[in-house]
Amino acid sequence: MLEIRHLRSGYGRVTVLWDVSLTFREGTLTTIVGPNGAGKTTLLKTLAGLIPYEGDIRLGGEPLRGKAWDLAERGIILVPEGRMVFRDMSVEENLSLGAYPRRCRAAFASNLERVYSLFPRLKERHGQLAGSLSGGEAQMLAIGRGLMSMPRILLIDEPSLGLAPVIVKEVFDIIRRLKEEAITIVLVEQNTHIAVGVADDVHLMRSGRVLLSEPAANVDLDRLHDLYLARE
Ligand code: ATP
Repeated sequence: MLEIRHLRSGYGRVTVLWDVSLTFREGTLTTIVGPNGAGKTTLLKTLAGLIPYEGDIRLGGEPLRGKAWDLAERGIILVPEGRMVFRDMSVEENLSLGAYPRRCRAAFASNLERVYSLFPRLKERHGQLAGSLSGGEAQMLAIGRGLMSMPRILLIDEPSLGLAPVIVKEVFDIIRRLKEEAITIVLVEQNTHIAVGVADDVHLMRSGRVLLSEPAANVDLDRLHDLYLARE
């Protein structure tokens, strides 16, 4: 279980997250929705160790402190917004980069095989430069690279961004499969319909605060959209 209590973080003197407290249950998928600028990406970056914070983050009851590198060793892995693949490197080289945590190196070959079985298209294109992939393929590569790090908690930021609906469905089919493998997933997604559909728990953020937390089964999408759009 990943727990955050009274989290406050931002950039320099700019506070973006104000007193955020959330619990992410082990083996479940939590979706964070909210309008642009709500602080969703900032939350994922804070969890991944990319931004300093005040407050308390605990994994399995143990305090979680450190830089992204240390947190990756503990299995907290970010699939960033915009995919951030290395365009001048091949698909397979990009995947190899995901295997940088020490604990993943021995299992490199079997992890690569697993990623290729989840994403046969990446296998077909293993030698191709990542910069020449389609948006959907690049998203699959970003998720595949995350899986090479053997995540205990996978933080996925806006996977549907800029993708055609049919490709979004493909990407979410994979996310559903990962959920079945009991990886704890925290998903930030603008497409509320699909994001709530795949989730166990849903949190709505606005202006750096959590406005609503509910089991996905209880979420009324109309009400969610009203809260989403409501004025401050
Ligand atoms: P979006 O859906 O647009 O990605 P978001 O909910 O993910 O929105 P964040 O990207 O976390 O929101 O941004 C929250 C606030 O933090 C915004 O006001 C943004 O301008 C600000 N912000 C984000 N990155 C930085 C940065 N590197 N330096 C300063 N401010 C930043």
